[in-house]
Amino acid sequence: MPVGEIRDVFREIYGRDPEVVGIAPGRINLIGEHTDYNDGFVFPAAIDRGLAIAACVSDGPSKTYSVQLGNAEEFDVADVKPGFTETWSKYGAGMGWAISDLIESKLPNLNVVVDSEIPIGSGVSSSAALELAFGVVWNYVEKLTLDNRELARLGQICENRFVGVNSGIMDQMASAMGRNGHAMFLDTRTLQMEYVKVPSDLAVVLCDTKKERALTTSAYNERRTQCETAAQYLGVRKLRDADMKLLDSTKRHLPEVVYRRAKHVITENQRCVDFKEALRGRDYEAIGRLMKESHVSLRDDYEVSCAELDAMAESAWAAPGCVGARMTGAGFGGACVALVQKDLLNPFITATLSVYELATGREGDAMSCIIVDGARLLEA
Ligand code: ADP
Ligand code: MG
Repeated sequence: MPVGEIRDVFREIYGRDPEVVGIAPGRINLIGEHTDYNDGFVFPAAIDRGLAIAACVSDGPSKTYSVQLGNAEEFDVADVKPGFTETWSKYGAGMGWAISDLIESKLPNLNVVVDSEIPIGSGVSSSAALELAFGVVWNYVEKLTLDNRELARLGQICENRFVGVNSGIMDQMASAMGRNGHAMFLDTRTLQMEYVKVPSDLAVVLCDTKKERALTTSAYNERRTQCETAAQYLGVRKLRDADMKLLDSTKRHLPEVVYRRAKHVITENQRCVDFKEALRGRDYEAIGRLMKESHVSLRDDYEVSCAELDAMAESAWAAPGCVGARMTGAGFGGACVALVQKDLLNPFITATLSVYELATGREGDAMSCIIVDGARLLEA
């Protein structure tokens, strides 16, 4: 994303230069899906598709323009409340609301231009990047010295309490704390992280089904409730605290569907831990097996896949150079993530997309991602 362009757009709209440009990356999750709201483990990385915000302090209300989505509702950050708008400025307003609450003082309003390369709703978390970019900008103009970990927490508060999406903290932590060339093993309970280098002969590829996510909010909330029910039956705080032995010993008391949901979460947590060792040891056979097991578990036990995601995963598994592939993100559409031998990247993409199209009649898309640093100021 050429920064010059966002400055030009800013000048055109507001008739002056921005005071600050902040950027936050999208993220891709290698493994550990639907585990974060169970206090479990995840394994994301920040990717070189970012979202930038150019901004200056405004005397009037906060005005927001997005190159992708156009104008959104104006707001006064001093008195916005959850539910004030359904337009995309709820992410900026919500971030301002969350920061004001933390620092117990008023923030200035901003004039804002957003420009982004992050596909929206493809499972790479454009919303967390938008929150983090707003966070970075307000942090700068108010000299708040909040660190990125705090901004990630505030992003989650914005998403949960202001936007009304009851998501875990993975997306915000990945966008905030990403590190060049590394994936992050994250314990979503303690927020402890371990960075693990992704071997330089592997490409991280996002294979987009181009199927819009459907049903996500209701299905997501239903899965969350089922996980809470399972934890109650098992007598643990969160499913993070259970293992398969405990689950199996309780099996006959559990509704069958609740058993399968819990099984996914428990086995996925273990896969995430195993994946860390596999990645460290460059054990490509184990990486492939764990990613495939993750997909199958999400498909059969958690039931958040769909025909397009299954077709994409299967096409990827069969393609040259594929080390591992699985659906990524909440499910019901969106994308698969694949780890691919770099020297076979082009044949991998060609084969995966052509088999996918034959299977579904849809034209998918594949993009190779570089793993980058987390949210930051681009320039003051
Ligand atoms: P994702 O998986 O991409 O995070 P979400 O539904 O959580 O999907 O968030 C997408 C929403 O974030 C969009 O509907 C829009 O409100 C906001 N958003 C994302 N990218 C942009 C952008 N470039 N400009 C304005 N708003 C954006
Ligand atoms: Mg999102």
